[in-house]
Amino acid sequence: MRLSYYCKSCNKKNYLKTKATNRFKLQTEVGDEINNRCSHCGTLEKKHINRLFAQPSIFIGLFSLALGMLLTGTIFMFGFIAILSITIPIWIYFDSFKKASNFNKVMISRK
Ligand SMILES: [Zn+2]
Repeated sequence: MRLSYYCKSCNKKNYLKTKATNRFKLQTEVGDEINNRCSHCGTLEKKHINRLFAQPSIFIGLFSLALGMLLTGTIFMFGFIAILSITIPIWIYFDSFKKASNFNKVMISRK
């Protein structure tokens, strides 16, 4: 999962990577807050993990697009209807989108 937050001092987006699929898992991994240095201005900032938002991975988006094109090519060769080439990539992308939105929905309770 790719998490993002906006830097307080320069308002640019920062990204963090985690294996956690929800905030509870993230909490056991990093605690209630993360200390992260902004990759744009270098400001060290404490962020509560409720302030981190997951994003569907761009890699998965590109991967599903490539897969779609590959399938379309294959399907043209064999002369089949191109339904699979559209539905499979969309399904893969939405799965990643759903994981991100599930992450964003669940907040941990603040102390
Ligand atoms: Zn910054």
